[in-house]
Amino acid sequence: MSRYTESVCKLCRNEGVKLFLKGTRCYTTKCAIERRRYPSGQHGQERKKQSEFAVQLREKQKVRRFYSVAEKQFSGYFDTANRQKKIPTGLKLLQILEARLDNVVHRSGMVPSRAQARQLILHGHFLVDGKKVAIPSYLLKAGQVVSVVEDSKKLIRGLVEGSPVATHPTWMNVDKEGLTASLGNLPAREDLDPTIKEALIVEHYSR
Ligand code: SF4
Repeated sequence: MSRYTESVCKLCRNEGVKLFLKGTRCYTTKCAIERRRYPSGQHGQERKKQSEFAVQLREKQKVRRFYSVAEKQFSGYFDTANRQKKIPTGLKLLQILEARLDNVVHRSGMVPSRAQARQLILHGHFLVDGKKVAIPSYLLKAGQVVSVVEDSKKLIRGLVEGSPVATHPTWMNVDKEGLTASLGNLPAREDLDPTIKEALIVEHYSR
């Protein structure tokens, strides 16, 4: 993923929602969006009417940034979701994003942010079904078990103790003592964030 070098809090302020990009800080009163609920920049507080295109684009960017996925990969996920016909495209897209290894490691409460999960996966601290997987975008299937390399357990236990992620989603099975996580099933739409308007993302890519 290309590196974004400015303050990630600007991304939250520009999208108008918490994207939880900074780990523990996001859950405290130091969160930038709690203090300044308007877009960054000189004209951030001016109200602007958005075009239909802009609304669709912002929704896509919001979801893409929430899951910390690069544009190319995100549009690839959309193509995959669009090719299958069993599940509505928008829901399938969200299910793919939820199945990413970095997302599961973060959501399980083992690591405070997706960025940190990504880093730790790249450094080889995690296993999938007992084999080392150093690919943050690895897509987990239901039942596959994520665990921690023996030598890394002390490090990850320290993160779990300080993690602000107190609960894990209902579609995941998590054992915080044993440091394991797996997907039960892929989430249904009602399990996912109701504020995401995935239809706008589908419209964006269908233009
Ligand atoms: Fe976003 Fe976290 Fe920064 Fe708050 S602290 S603005 S949630 S990245």
